[in-house]
Amino acid sequence: MGARRRNRDTFEVPEHKCPACGKRLDSVTEMFSGAEPQPGDCTICLDCGAILIMLEDLTTRRASDAETARMLADPEHGRQIRKVRQALSQFWVWQIRRN
Ligand SMILES: [Zn+2]
Repeated sequence: MGARRRNRDTFEVPEHKCPACGKRLDSVTEMFSGAEPQPGDCTICLDCGAILIMLEDLTTRRASDAETARMLADPEHGRQIRKVRQALSQFWVWQIRRN
């Protein structure tokens, strides 16, 4: 299969709802390697910060508590997840100030 590239590092995925917050999801952005999304990859909802796992059809499911704990404990994944969540919290602060 393979996701359609929307721009340099954003790929279209089938439209679906975030399993954690219900936000409409239709694309993913690779923040570190520019690689195409693959089933089993981890992604983070831009709206609620939930850690999601990409399924075979590139929709997502919520990571289990055990998967989340394992990813946060991994030095590289943990660092990337904290970086993205930090960026999200700054984004929200910016949005709140702007509104
Ligand atoms: Zn969400």
